[in-house]
Amino acid sequence: MSIKKCLWDQSHEFEDEGDAYRKLCPTCYHNIFIDIFKNITKWDDFIDKIEEAKSAFKFVSALDKFYKNNIMKLASTKNDEEEAERHCLICDGKYKVTPADHYRYLCGSCAHKYYFPLKLSRSSKEIKDLILDLKKVFNTTEQLMEKLIEIAKES
Ligand SMILES: [Zn+2]
Ligand SMILES: [Zn+2]
Repeated sequence: MSIKKCLWDQSHEFEDEGDAYRKLCPTCYHNIFIDIFKNITKWDDFIDKIEEAKSAFKFVSALDKFYKNNIMKLASTKNDEEEAERHCLICDGKYKVTPADHYRYLCGSCAHKYYFPLKLSRSSKEIKDLILDLKKVFNTTEQLMEKLIEIAKES
């Protein structure tokens, strides 16, 4: 038995177990030839053109990395958008929404105080329209809030 250098990567050494065709270390034989090149080329052609195969592989790996990075970037931008910031329709306070609650137009505190009591007798859209209508009539947030409580009590 002798030590051979892997044709794919000279830094890999492996024990030659007498298989004359073995020009790659077992790891490269499986990971590079069997998993990737076997689908597109014969072993002899692969060995003949191994330098071309190496540069093609580098090129593809670089592309692959490039796309993965871009996909990751894309994914992280999407995440930023997912947590959108909104202003509450009643108190104008800021709150965050995720796509799951895009329908929300109130902050948590206002939803608790006004939306849920009003929701007993109204649809979400009716409540929104009511708030928008009242905002035209009342100048201050306090007046708006008082009126909403009044309406919620009446209904
Ligand atoms: Zn190797
Ligand atoms: Zn609010």
